[in-house]
Amino acid sequence: MLEKEFDIVIIGSGSGGGVVASELSPMCRDGVRIAVLEWGPKLKPAEFTGREIEMVGRLYAEAGGFFTKDGDMTIAFGRAYGGSTVVYTGTSLKIAKETVEKWAVPGLEFDNMDRRAEKFFRENNLHLIEDSLINENNRLFVEGCRKLGYRTKRFPVNVKGCKGSSLCNLGCPHGAKQGTDQVQLPAAEKNGVLVVTNCKVEHLGNRECLAVVSEPGFGEPSAWAPGEYRIKAKIVVACGGAINTPALLIRSRLPAALPALGKFITLHPALILVGLHDRPIANFLGHPKSFCCDHFAGTHGFLLETCIYFPFTTAKSCIGFGAEHAELMAHMDRQQQIIALAWDQPLERNRVTVDRKGDPVLDYRASPLVLDALHRAQIEAARIFFASGAARVHAPAGRKFFVERSEAAEVEDLIPRSGMLPGKISLTSAHVMGGCRMGRDPETSVTDGWGRVHGVPWLYVADASLFPRCSEANPYLTIMALADRVAERVRSDTSELLR
Ligand SMILES: Cc1cc2nc3c(=O)[nH]c(=O)nc-3n(C[C@H](O)[C@H](O)[C@H](O)COP(=O)(O)OP(=O)(O)OC[C@H]3O[C@@H](n4cnc5c(N)ncnc54)[C@H](O)[C@@H]3O)c2cc1C
Ligand code: SF4
Repeated sequence: MLEKEFDIVIIGSGSGGGVVASELSPMCRDGVRIAVLEWGPKLKPAEFTGREIEMVGRLYAEAGGFFTKDGDMTIAFGRAYGGSTVVYTGTSLKIAKETVEKWAVPGLEFDNMDRRAEKFFRENNLHLIEDSLINENNRLFVEGCRKLGYRTKRFPVNVKGCKGSSLCNLGCPHGAKQGTDQVQLPAAEKNGVLVVTNCKVEHLGNRECLAVVSEPGFGEPSAWAPGEYRIKAKIVVACGGAINTPALLIRSRLPAALPALGKFITLHPALILVGLHDRPIANFLGHPKSFCCDHFAGTHGFLLETCIYFPFTTAKSCIGFGAEHAELMAHMDRQQQIIALAWDQPLERNRVTVDRKGDPVLDYRASPLVLDALHRAQIEAARIFFASGAARVHAPAGRKFFVERSEAAEVEDLIPRSGMLPGKISLTSAHVMGGCRMGRDPETSVTDGWGRVHGVPWLYVADASLFPRCSEANPYLTIMALADRVAERVRSDTSELLR
Protein backbone atom coordinates (compact mmCIF):
# COMPACT_ATOMS: atom_id res chain seq x y z
CA MET A 1 0.00 0.00 0.00
CA LEU A 2 1.48 3.35 -1.09
CA GLU A 3 1.16 6.31 1.29
CA LYS A 4 0.27 9.93 0.40
CA GLU A 5 -0.53 12.94 2.53
CA PHE A 6 -2.55 16.10 1.82
CA ASP A 7 -4.25 18.80 3.81
CA ILE A 8 -7.47 18.65 1.84
CA VAL A 9 -8.75 15.79 -0.32
CA ILE A 10 -11.75 16.32 -2.61
CA ILE A 11 -13.43 13.13 -3.85
CA GLY A 12 -14.96 13.63 -7.32
CA SER A 13 -14.56 16.42 -9.87
CA GLY A 14 -18.06 17.16 -11.21
CA SER A 15 -20.34 20.13 -10.56
CA GLY A 16 -19.59 19.98 -6.83
CA GLY A 17 -15.97 18.78 -6.72
CA GLY A 18 -14.79 21.03 -9.55
CA VAL A 19 -16.15 24.12 -7.81
CA VAL A 20 -14.70 23.16 -4.41
CA ALA A 21 -11.30 22.56 -6.05
CA SER A 22 -11.21 25.93 -7.79
CA GLU A 23 -12.56 27.83 -4.79
CA LEU A 24 -10.00 26.33 -2.41
CA SER A 25 -7.09 26.40 -4.87
CA PRO A 26 -5.77 29.90 -3.95
CA MET A 27 -4.81 28.34 -0.59
CA CYS A 28 -2.15 26.28 -2.43
CA ARG A 29 -0.09 29.51 -2.63
CA ASP A 30 0.08 29.44 1.18
CA GLY A 31 1.39 25.89 1.11
CA VAL A 32 -1.93 24.07 1.62
CA ARG A 33 -1.73 20.70 -0.19
CA ILE A 34 -4.94 19.87 -2.05
CA ALA A 35 -5.77 16.82 -4.18
CA VAL A 36 -8.85 15.84 -6.18
CA LEU A 37 -9.30 12.07 -6.43
CA GLU A 38 -11.44 11.26 -9.47
CA TRP A 39 -12.59 7.74 -10.35
CA GLY A 40 -13.00 8.50 -14.05
CA PRO A 41 -10.50 9.19 -16.83
CA LYS A 42 -9.42 12.42 -18.47
CA LEU A 43 -9.92 11.78 -22.17
CA LYS A 44 -7.54 13.16 -24.77
CA PRO A 45 -9.23 15.64 -27.17
CA ALA A 46 -9.07 13.13 -30.06
CA GLU A 47 -10.88 10.53 -27.94
CA PHE A 48 -14.13 12.56 -28.03
CA THR A 49 -15.36 10.76 -31.14
CA GLY A 50 -19.10 11.42 -30.81
CA ARG A 51 -19.79 7.68 -31.31
CA GLU A 52 -22.56 6.78 -28.90
CA ILE A 53 -21.55 3.34 -27.66
CA GLU A 54 -17.85 4.23 -27.46
CA MET A 55 -18.46 7.49 -25.56
CA VAL A 56 -20.99 6.17 -23.06
CA GLY A 57 -18.52 3.38 -22.24
CA ARG A 58 -15.79 5.91 -21.51
CA LEU A 59 -17.66 8.77 -19.86
CA TYR A 60 -20.64 7.30 -17.98
CA ALA A 61 -20.89 5.11 -14.89
CA GLU A 62 -21.97 1.60 -15.99
CA ALA A 63 -21.92 2.87 -19.60
CA GLY A 64 -25.03 4.96 -18.81
CA GLY A 65 -26.98 1.87 -17.76
CA PHE A 66 -27.02 2.03 -13.98
CA PHE A 67 -30.35 0.39 -13.05
CA THR A 68 -32.55 0.88 -10.04
CA LYS A 69 -32.93 -2.20 -7.81
CA ASP A 70 -36.20 -3.23 -9.52
CA GLY A 71 -34.60 -2.74 -12.94
CA ASP A 72 -37.37 -0.45 -14.21
CA MET A 73 -35.37 2.80 -14.41
CA THR A 74 -31.97 3.63 -15.89
CA ILE A 75 -29.91 6.33 -14.24
CA ALA A 76 -27.27 8.30 -16.14
CA PHE A 77 -24.31 9.97 -14.44
CA GLY A 78 -20.80 10.75 -15.51
CA ARG A 79 -17.53 9.17 -14.41
CA ALA A 80 -14.76 11.37 -15.77
CA TYR A 81 -12.48 14.35 -15.17
CA GLY A 82 -15.34 16.87 -14.84
CA GLY A 83 -17.93 14.30 -13.66
CA SER A 84 -21.37 14.65 -15.19
CA THR A 85 -20.52 18.13 -16.50
CA VAL A 86 -18.62 16.39 -19.32
CA VAL A 87 -21.87 14.81 -20.54
CA TYR A 88 -24.54 17.24 -19.40
CA THR A 89 -26.32 19.46 -21.88
CA GLY A 90 -25.58 22.69 -20.03
CA THR A 91 -29.22 23.70 -19.50
CA SER A 92 -28.73 26.47 -16.97
CA LEU A 93 -31.73 27.07 -14.73
CA LYS A 94 -31.63 28.66 -11.30
CA ILE A 95 -33.55 27.25 -8.37
CA ALA A 96 -36.75 29.19 -7.56
CA LYS A 97 -37.30 31.06 -4.30
CA GLU A 98 -40.33 28.86 -3.46
CA THR A 99 -38.21 25.73 -3.83
CA VAL A 100 -35.48 27.00 -1.50
CA GLU A 101 -38.26 27.82 0.96
CA LYS A 102 -39.64 24.28 0.62
CA TRP A 103 -36.16 22.95 1.36
CA ALA A 104 -36.40 24.74 4.72
CA VAL A 105 -32.71 24.31 5.59
CA PRO A 106 -31.88 26.54 8.58
CA GLY A 107 -29.59 29.38 7.43
CA LEU A 108 -29.90 28.63 3.71
CA GLU A 109 -31.38 31.75 2.12
CA PHE A 110 -32.59 32.11 -1.46
CA ASP A 111 -30.75 35.42 -2.01
CA ASN A 112 -27.47 33.86 -0.98
CA MET A 113 -27.98 30.87 -3.31
CA ASP A 114 -29.04 33.13 -6.16
CA ARG A 115 -25.98 35.36 -5.80
CA ARG A 116 -23.72 32.32 -5.89
CA ALA A 117 -25.50 30.91 -8.97
CA GLU A 118 -25.01 34.29 -10.71
CA LYS A 119 -21.27 33.98 -10.17
CA PHE A 120 -21.28 30.85 -12.38
CA PHE A 121 -23.21 32.70 -15.08
CA ARG A 122 -20.02 34.75 -15.53
CA GLU A 123 -17.48 32.03 -14.78
CA ASN A 124 -19.01 29.43 -17.14
CA ASN A 125 -20.10 31.83 -19.89
CA LEU A 126 -23.85 31.32 -19.60
CA HIS A 127 -25.87 33.08 -22.28
CA LEU A 128 -28.76 32.63 -24.70
CA ILE A 129 -27.31 30.85 -27.68
CA GLU A 130 -27.15 32.53 -31.10
CA ASP A 131 -30.34 32.14 -33.17
CA SER A 132 -28.35 30.37 -35.91
CA LEU A 133 -27.78 27.45 -33.50
CA ILE A 134 -31.48 27.00 -32.67
CA ASN A 135 -32.55 24.02 -34.76
CA GLU A 136 -35.93 22.94 -36.10
CA ASN A 137 -36.50 20.48 -33.25
CA ASN A 138 -36.40 23.47 -30.87
CA ARG A 139 -38.36 25.82 -33.13
CA LEU A 140 -41.17 23.29 -33.66
CA PHE A 141 -41.50 22.87 -29.90
CA VAL A 142 -41.97 26.62 -29.43
CA GLU A 143 -44.39 26.77 -32.36
CA GLY A 144 -46.48 23.87 -31.06
CA CYS A 145 -46.63 25.34 -27.54
CA ARG A 146 -47.54 28.79 -28.91
CA LYS A 147 -50.43 27.35 -30.94
CA LEU A 148 -51.78 25.66 -27.82
CA GLY A 149 -51.26 28.72 -25.61
CA TYR A 150 -48.64 26.93 -23.46
CA ARG A 151 -45.97 29.16 -21.92
CA THR A 152 -42.38 28.51 -23.03
CA LYS A 153 -39.09 29.81 -21.68
CA ARG A 154 -35.74 30.09 -23.42
CA PHE A 155 -32.87 29.36 -21.08
CA PRO A 156 -29.13 30.08 -21.16
CA VAL A 157 -26.54 27.42 -21.92
CA ASN A 158 -22.86 27.46 -21.03
CA VAL A 159 -20.91 27.23 -24.28
CA LYS A 160 -18.03 29.10 -25.87
CA GLY A 161 -17.41 28.56 -29.59
CA CYS A 162 -20.24 26.04 -30.00
CA LYS A 163 -20.15 24.37 -33.43
CA GLY A 164 -23.70 23.03 -33.19
CA SER A 165 -22.80 19.36 -33.41
CA SER A 166 -25.55 18.37 -30.93
CA LEU A 167 -23.22 15.86 -29.28
CA CYS A 168 -23.28 17.44 -25.80
CA ASN A 169 -24.37 14.23 -24.01
CA LEU A 170 -21.48 12.30 -25.53
CA GLY A 171 -18.86 14.85 -24.44
CA CYS A 172 -18.19 17.92 -26.57
CA PRO A 173 -15.60 17.12 -29.28
CA HIS A 174 -14.89 20.87 -29.65
CA GLY A 175 -14.25 21.74 -26.01
CA ALA A 176 -17.08 24.28 -26.30
CA LYS A 177 -19.22 23.22 -23.36
CA GLN A 178 -18.01 25.02 -20.26
CA GLY A 179 -18.17 22.26 -17.67
CA THR A 180 -15.81 21.93 -14.73
CA ASP A 181 -13.42 20.01 -17.05
CA GLN A 182 -12.99 23.19 -19.09
CA VAL A 183 -13.26 25.89 -16.40
CA GLN A 184 -12.88 25.05 -12.70
CA LEU A 185 -10.47 22.08 -12.83
CA PRO A 186 -7.87 23.69 -15.13
CA ALA A 187 -8.03 26.85 -12.93
CA ALA A 188 -7.51 24.75 -9.81
CA GLU A 189 -4.59 22.85 -11.35
CA LYS A 190 -2.98 26.12 -12.40
CA ASN A 191 -3.07 27.21 -8.76
CA GLY A 192 -1.43 23.98 -7.61
CA VAL A 193 -4.24 21.46 -6.96
CA LEU A 194 -3.28 17.91 -7.96
CA VAL A 195 -6.02 16.05 -9.86
CA VAL A 196 -5.56 12.27 -9.78
CA THR A 197 -7.74 10.54 -12.36
CA ASN A 198 -8.62 6.81 -12.58
CA CYS A 199 -8.56 6.89 -8.77
CA LYS A 200 -11.51 5.32 -6.96
CA VAL A 201 -11.87 6.01 -3.24
CA GLU A 202 -13.04 2.74 -1.72
CA HIS A 203 -13.19 3.66 1.92
CA LEU A 204 -12.96 6.59 4.35
CA GLY A 205 -11.17 6.04 7.65
CA ASN A 206 -10.41 8.58 10.37
CA ARG A 207 -8.91 11.45 8.33
CA GLU A 208 -7.78 9.11 5.57
CA CYS A 209 -8.98 7.60 2.30
CA LEU A 210 -8.18 4.18 0.88
CA ALA A 211 -8.12 4.34 -2.91
CA VAL A 212 -7.21 2.27 -5.94
CA VAL A 213 -5.66 3.73 -9.10
CA SER A 214 -6.28 1.73 -12.27
CA GLU A 215 -5.31 1.96 -15.93
CA PRO A 216 -8.42 1.81 -18.16
CA GLY A 217 -6.48 1.78 -21.45
CA PHE A 218 -7.68 5.16 -22.69
CA GLY A 219 -7.37 8.79 -21.62
CA GLU A 220 -4.39 10.60 -20.13
CA PRO A 221 -2.31 8.53 -17.71
CA SER A 222 -3.16 9.12 -14.05
CA ALA A 223 -0.81 11.29 -11.97
CA TRP A 224 -0.20 8.17 -9.83
CA ALA A 225 0.90 4.69 -10.88
CA PRO A 226 -1.70 1.92 -10.70
CA GLY A 227 -1.95 0.44 -7.22
CA GLU A 228 -3.51 0.78 -3.77
CA TYR A 229 -3.10 4.00 -1.78
CA ARG A 230 -3.65 5.19 1.77
CA ILE A 231 -4.10 8.97 1.61
CA LYS A 232 -3.97 10.93 4.84
CA ALA A 233 -6.02 14.16 4.82
CA LYS A 234 -6.92 16.67 7.51
CA ILE A 235 -10.12 17.58 5.64
CA VAL A 236 -12.11 15.43 3.21
CA VAL A 237 -14.82 16.88 0.94
CA ALA A 238 -17.00 14.16 -0.60
CA CYS A 239 -18.28 15.16 -4.05
CA GLY A 240 -18.91 11.78 -5.68
CA GLY A 241 -22.52 12.56 -6.63
CA ALA A 242 -25.82 11.53 -5.05
CA ILE A 243 -25.35 7.80 -5.60
CA ASN A 244 -21.67 7.38 -4.87
CA THR A 245 -21.25 9.79 -1.94
CA PRO A 246 -23.95 8.13 0.20
CA ALA A 247 -22.59 4.69 -0.83
CA LEU A 248 -19.04 5.67 0.18
CA LEU A 249 -20.22 7.00 3.54
CA ILE A 250 -22.36 3.90 4.20
CA ARG A 251 -19.63 1.39 3.37
CA SER A 252 -17.11 3.41 5.43
CA ARG A 253 -19.24 2.98 8.58
CA LEU A 254 -18.68 6.46 9.93
CA PRO A 255 -18.56 6.80 13.70
CA ALA A 256 -21.67 9.03 13.75
CA ALA A 257 -25.15 7.44 13.75
CA LEU A 258 -26.96 9.08 10.81
CA PRO A 259 -30.35 7.43 10.18
CA ALA A 260 -31.07 9.62 7.12
CA LEU A 261 -27.88 8.60 5.28
CA GLY A 262 -28.70 7.32 1.77
CA LYS A 263 -32.40 8.14 2.12
CA PHE A 264 -34.76 10.67 0.49
CA ILE A 265 -33.32 10.25 -3.00
CA THR A 266 -35.18 12.19 -5.69
CA LEU A 267 -34.61 11.77 -9.41
CA HIS A 268 -36.84 14.06 -11.51
CA PRO A 269 -38.04 10.82 -13.21
CA ALA A 270 -38.16 11.42 -16.94
CA LEU A 271 -39.71 10.09 -20.14
CA ILE A 272 -38.25 10.69 -23.58
CA LEU A 273 -41.12 11.26 -26.02
CA VAL A 274 -41.02 11.15 -29.80
CA GLY A 275 -43.14 12.70 -32.56
CA LEU A 276 -42.51 11.60 -36.14
CA HIS A 277 -42.78 14.10 -38.98
CA ASP A 278 -43.37 13.01 -42.56
CA ARG A 279 -40.26 14.92 -43.69
CA PRO A 280 -36.73 15.24 -42.32
CA ILE A 281 -36.32 17.98 -39.72
CA ALA A 282 -33.02 19.48 -38.52
CA ASN A 283 -32.60 17.83 -35.13
CA PHE A 284 -28.94 16.74 -34.99
CA LEU A 285 -27.63 20.10 -36.21
CA GLY A 286 -27.35 23.10 -33.93
CA HIS A 287 -27.39 23.12 -30.14
CA PRO A 288 -29.76 20.40 -28.84
CA LYS A 289 -31.65 22.24 -26.15
CA SER A 290 -32.76 25.81 -25.53
CA PHE A 291 -36.44 25.78 -24.53
CA CYS A 292 -38.70 24.46 -21.84
CA CYS A 293 -42.41 24.64 -21.18
CA ASP A 294 -43.13 25.27 -17.50
CA HIS A 295 -46.86 25.72 -18.12
CA PHE A 296 -47.74 22.61 -16.09
CA ALA A 297 -45.01 22.82 -13.44
CA GLY A 298 -47.17 24.46 -10.77
CA THR A 299 -50.39 22.52 -11.45
CA HIS A 300 -49.19 19.07 -12.54
CA GLY A 301 -45.57 18.90 -11.34
CA PHE A 302 -43.73 18.41 -14.62
CA LEU A 303 -41.53 20.34 -16.99
CA LEU A 304 -41.21 19.70 -20.74
CA GLU A 305 -37.88 20.41 -22.42
CA THR A 306 -36.57 20.06 -25.94
CA CYS A 307 -34.01 17.29 -26.40
CA ILE A 308 -32.54 14.95 -28.96
CA TYR A 309 -31.06 11.63 -27.96
CA PHE A 310 -28.85 9.23 -29.87
CA PRO A 311 -30.06 5.99 -31.48
CA PHE A 312 -29.37 3.56 -28.63
CA THR A 313 -30.84 5.86 -25.96
CA THR A 314 -33.88 6.62 -28.12
CA ALA A 315 -34.45 2.95 -28.95
CA LYS A 316 -34.46 1.89 -25.31
CA SER A 317 -36.76 4.77 -24.36
CA CYS A 318 -39.47 3.70 -26.81
CA ILE A 319 -41.50 0.70 -25.74
CA GLY A 320 -41.96 -2.51 -27.68
CA PHE A 321 -40.06 -3.93 -30.61
CA GLY A 322 -40.76 -5.18 -34.11
CA ALA A 323 -41.84 -3.39 -37.28
CA GLU A 324 -43.19 -0.17 -35.73
CA HIS A 325 -40.20 0.27 -33.45
CA ALA A 326 -37.92 -0.37 -36.43
CA GLU A 327 -39.83 2.20 -38.48
CA LEU A 328 -39.45 4.82 -35.77
CA MET A 329 -35.74 4.14 -35.48
CA ALA A 330 -35.22 4.09 -39.25
CA HIS A 331 -36.43 7.70 -39.32
CA MET A 332 -34.24 9.38 -36.74
CA ASP A 333 -33.99 12.33 -39.12
CA ARG A 334 -37.77 12.91 -38.85
CA GLN A 335 -37.95 12.74 -35.09
CA GLN A 336 -38.98 15.60 -32.87
CA GLN A 337 -38.22 14.84 -29.24
CA ILE A 338 -39.38 16.20 -25.89
CA ILE A 339 -38.22 15.11 -22.45
CA ALA A 340 -40.73 15.27 -19.60
CA LEU A 341 -39.31 15.67 -16.08
CA ALA A 342 -41.49 15.05 -13.01
CA TRP A 343 -41.01 16.66 -9.60
CA ASP A 344 -40.81 13.78 -7.12
CA GLN A 345 -41.39 13.94 -3.38
CA PRO A 346 -38.55 13.10 -0.96
CA LEU A 347 -39.56 9.69 0.42
CA GLU A 348 -37.56 7.85 3.04
CA ARG A 349 -38.02 4.51 1.22
CA ASN A 350 -36.27 5.85 -1.92
CA ARG A 351 -32.69 5.31 -0.98
CA VAL A 352 -29.15 4.23 -1.73
CA THR A 353 -27.84 1.16 0.06
CA VAL A 354 -24.78 -0.96 -0.68
CA ASP A 355 -24.51 -4.60 -1.70
CA ARG A 356 -22.12 -7.13 -0.15
CA LYS A 357 -19.24 -5.78 -2.22
CA GLY A 358 -20.01 -2.20 -1.08
CA ASP A 359 -21.34 -1.16 -4.50
CA PRO A 360 -24.32 1.21 -4.57
CA VAL A 361 -27.86 -0.11 -4.98
CA LEU A 362 -30.59 2.43 -5.70
CA ASP A 363 -33.95 1.37 -4.34
CA TYR A 364 -36.43 3.76 -5.97
CA ARG A 365 -40.08 3.38 -6.87
CA ALA A 366 -41.91 6.08 -8.80
CA SER A 367 -44.88 7.21 -6.70
CA PRO A 368 -48.46 7.38 -8.05
CA LEU A 369 -48.09 11.20 -8.11
CA VAL A 370 -45.04 10.92 -10.38
CA LEU A 371 -46.85 8.48 -12.66
CA ASP A 372 -49.85 10.85 -12.79
CA ALA A 373 -47.54 13.72 -13.77
CA LEU A 374 -45.75 11.74 -16.47
CA HIS A 375 -49.05 10.45 -17.82
CA ARG A 376 -50.36 13.99 -18.21
CA ALA A 377 -46.97 15.02 -19.66
CA GLN A 378 -47.33 12.43 -22.45
CA ILE A 379 -50.77 13.74 -23.38
CA GLU A 380 -49.56 17.35 -23.45
CA ALA A 381 -46.40 16.42 -25.37
CA ALA A 382 -48.54 14.56 -27.93
CA ARG A 383 -50.65 17.71 -28.36
CA ILE A 384 -47.48 19.78 -28.85
CA PHE A 385 -46.11 17.31 -31.43
CA PHE A 386 -49.34 17.38 -33.41
CA ALA A 387 -49.65 21.18 -33.14
CA SER A 388 -46.15 21.47 -34.57
CA GLY A 389 -47.00 19.25 -37.55
CA ALA A 390 -45.98 15.71 -36.53
CA ALA A 391 -47.68 12.90 -38.44
CA ARG A 392 -47.54 10.30 -35.66
CA VAL A 393 -46.62 10.24 -31.99
CA HIS A 394 -45.15 7.43 -29.91
CA ALA A 395 -46.43 7.61 -26.32
CA PRO A 396 -45.05 4.86 -24.04
CA ALA A 397 -48.36 4.50 -22.17
CA GLY A 398 -50.35 4.46 -25.43
CA ARG A 399 -52.87 1.73 -26.33
CA LYS A 400 -50.91 1.33 -29.57
CA PHE A 401 -47.38 2.12 -30.66
CA PHE A 402 -48.29 5.19 -32.73
CA VAL A 403 -51.09 7.70 -32.27
CA GLU A 404 -51.87 9.01 -35.78
CA ARG A 405 -52.52 12.66 -36.69
CA SER A 406 -56.13 11.73 -37.56
CA GLU A 407 -56.54 10.59 -33.93
CA ALA A 408 -55.10 13.77 -32.38
CA ALA A 409 -58.42 14.71 -30.77
CA GLU A 410 -58.50 11.34 -28.95
CA VAL A 411 -55.15 11.47 -27.15
CA GLU A 412 -56.82 11.36 -23.71
CA ASP A 413 -58.41 7.98 -24.63
CA LEU A 414 -55.48 6.58 -26.55
CA ILE A 415 -52.92 7.32 -23.81
CA PRO A 416 -54.60 5.92 -20.68
CA ARG A 417 -53.27 6.25 -17.14
CA SER A 418 -53.53 2.45 -16.89
CA GLY A 419 -50.69 2.26 -19.44
CA MET A 420 -48.24 3.69 -16.89
CA LEU A 421 -47.02 0.27 -15.85
CA PRO A 422 -43.62 -0.22 -14.22
CA GLY A 423 -41.46 -2.19 -16.62
CA LYS A 424 -43.61 -1.15 -19.60
CA ILE A 425 -42.68 2.50 -19.71
CA SER A 426 -38.98 3.24 -19.83
CA LEU A 427 -38.31 5.75 -17.05
CA THR A 428 -34.94 7.37 -16.86
CA SER A 429 -33.09 9.99 -14.81
CA ALA A 430 -30.01 12.17 -15.14
CA HIS A 431 -30.77 14.27 -12.04
CA VAL A 432 -29.92 12.26 -8.94
CA MET A 433 -30.39 14.28 -5.74
CA GLY A 434 -30.36 13.60 -2.00
CA GLY A 435 -28.94 10.89 0.23
CA CYS A 436 -26.89 13.29 2.43
CA ARG A 437 -29.60 15.88 2.92
CA MET A 438 -28.85 19.10 4.76
CA GLY A 439 -30.64 20.02 7.96
CA ARG A 440 -30.16 20.76 11.61
CA ASP A 441 -31.17 17.46 13.20
CA PRO A 442 -28.81 14.44 12.90
CA GLU A 443 -31.89 12.20 13.19
CA THR A 444 -33.35 13.52 9.93
CA SER A 445 -30.37 14.94 8.03
CA VAL A 446 -26.74 14.05 7.30
CA THR A 447 -25.02 17.45 7.09
CA ASP A 448 -25.69 20.92 8.39
CA GLY A 449 -26.55 23.79 6.04
CA TRP A 450 -22.85 24.18 5.22
CA GLY A 451 -22.22 20.59 4.15
CA ARG A 452 -20.51 19.54 7.43
CA VAL A 453 -21.36 15.92 8.24
CA HIS A 454 -22.97 15.76 11.67
CA GLY A 455 -20.55 14.34 14.23
CA VAL A 456 -17.57 13.99 11.84
CA PRO A 457 -15.73 17.34 12.00
CA TRP A 458 -13.19 16.59 9.23
CA LEU A 459 -15.80 15.46 6.65
CA TYR A 460 -17.86 17.68 4.32
CA VAL A 461 -20.22 16.91 1.45
CA ALA A 462 -20.51 19.24 -1.57
CA ASP A 463 -22.57 17.65 -4.33
CA ALA A 464 -26.15 16.84 -5.34
CA SER A 465 -26.55 14.52 -2.38
CA LEU A 466 -27.02 17.62 -0.16
CA PHE A 467 -30.48 18.37 -1.64
CA PRO A 468 -33.18 17.85 1.00
CA ARG A 469 -35.74 17.49 -1.81
CA CYS A 470 -35.64 17.91 -5.57
CA SER A 471 -34.65 21.23 -7.13
CA GLU A 472 -37.67 21.45 -9.49
CA ALA A 473 -35.25 22.65 -12.17
CA ASN A 474 -32.19 21.16 -13.85
CA PRO A 475 -29.80 20.98 -10.91
CA TYR A 476 -26.20 21.74 -11.88
CA LEU A 477 -26.25 25.49 -11.11
CA THR A 478 -27.76 24.80 -7.69
CA ILE A 479 -25.08 22.19 -6.97
CA MET A 480 -22.39 24.69 -7.92
CA ALA A 481 -23.95 27.35 -5.69
CA LEU A 482 -24.03 24.90 -2.77
CA ALA A 483 -20.45 23.75 -3.44
CA ASP A 484 -19.34 27.38 -3.43
CA ARG A 485 -20.96 27.75 -0.02
CA VAL A 486 -19.34 24.58 1.35
CA ALA A 487 -15.93 25.76 0.07
CA GLU A 488 -16.43 29.04 1.93
CA ARG A 489 -17.08 27.11 5.13
CA VAL A 490 -14.06 24.84 4.58
CA ARG A 491 -11.88 27.95 4.12
CA SER A 492 -13.10 29.46 7.34
CA ASP A 493 -12.71 26.16 9.23
CA THR A 494 -9.13 25.53 8.06
CA SER A 495 -7.42 27.51 10.83
CA GLU A 496 -8.83 24.97 13.28
CA LEU A 497 -8.78 21.81 11.14
CA LEU A 498 -5.37 22.20 9.48
CA ARG A 499 -3.46 22.72 12.71
C1 LIG B 1 -26.62 13.15 -19.68
C2 LIG B 1 -26.80 14.20 -18.62
C3 LIG B 1 -27.31 15.45 -18.97
C4 LIG B 1 -27.49 16.42 -17.99
N1 LIG B 1 -27.88 17.68 -18.36
C5 LIG B 1 -28.00 18.64 -17.43
C6 LIG B 1 -28.32 19.97 -17.79
O1 LIG B 1 -28.42 20.28 -18.97
N2 LIG B 1 -28.47 20.89 -16.81
C7 LIG B 1 -28.34 20.57 -15.49
O2 LIG B 1 -28.54 21.44 -14.63
N3 LIG B 1 -28.01 19.32 -15.11
C8 LIG B 1 -27.82 18.36 -16.04
N4 LIG B 1 -27.44 17.10 -15.67
C9 LIG B 1 -27.26 16.81 -14.24
C10 LIG B 1 -25.95 17.35 -13.72
O3 LIG B 1 -24.92 17.12 -14.63
C11 LIG B 1 -25.64 16.66 -12.40
O4 LIG B 1 -26.75 16.83 -11.54
C12 LIG B 1 -24.43 17.26 -11.69
O5 LIG B 1 -23.29 17.30 -12.52
C13 LIG B 1 -24.12 16.42 -10.46
O6 LIG B 1 -23.02 17.00 -9.80
P1 LIG B 1 -22.27 16.21 -8.66
O7 LIG B 1 -21.09 16.99 -8.27
O8 LIG B 1 -23.27 15.83 -7.64
O9 LIG B 1 -21.81 14.82 -9.34
P2 LIG B 1 -21.07 14.53 -10.70
O10 LIG B 1 -21.01 15.75 -11.57
O11 LIG B 1 -21.73 13.33 -11.27
O12 LIG B 1 -19.57 14.20 -10.28
C14 LIG B 1 -19.26 13.14 -9.42
C15 LIG B 1 -17.87 12.65 -9.75
O13 LIG B 1 -17.38 11.92 -8.64
C16 LIG B 1 -16.67 10.79 -9.09
N5 LIG B 1 -16.72 9.77 -8.04
C17 LIG B 1 -17.80 9.14 -7.56
N6 LIG B 1 -17.45 8.28 -6.58
C18 LIG B 1 -16.12 8.37 -6.46
C19 LIG B 1 -15.18 7.69 -5.64
N7 LIG B 1 -15.57 6.77 -4.75
N8 LIG B 1 -13.87 7.99 -5.79
C20 LIG B 1 -13.46 8.93 -6.69
N9 LIG B 1 -14.32 9.59 -7.50
C21 LIG B 1 -15.64 9.31 -7.37
C22 LIG B 1 -17.42 10.36 -10.34
O14 LIG B 1 -16.58 9.59 -11.18
C23 LIG B 1 -17.81 11.70 -10.94
O15 LIG B 1 -16.87 12.13 -11.88
C24 LIG B 1 -27.20 16.12 -16.63
C25 LIG B 1 -26.69 14.87 -16.29
C26 LIG B 1 -26.48 13.91 -17.26
C27 LIG B 1 -25.92 12.58 -16.87
S1 SF4 C 1 -23.64 21.45 -29.63
FE1 SF4 C 1 -21.96 22.84 -29.10
S2 SF4 C 1 -21.53 22.40 -26.94
FE2 SF4 C 1 -22.77 20.68 -27.71
S3 SF4 C 1 -21.28 19.17 -28.39
FE3 SF4 C 1 -21.73 20.41 -30.19
S4 SF4 C 1 -20.17 22.05 -30.18
FE4 SF4 C 1 -20.16 21.10 -28.16
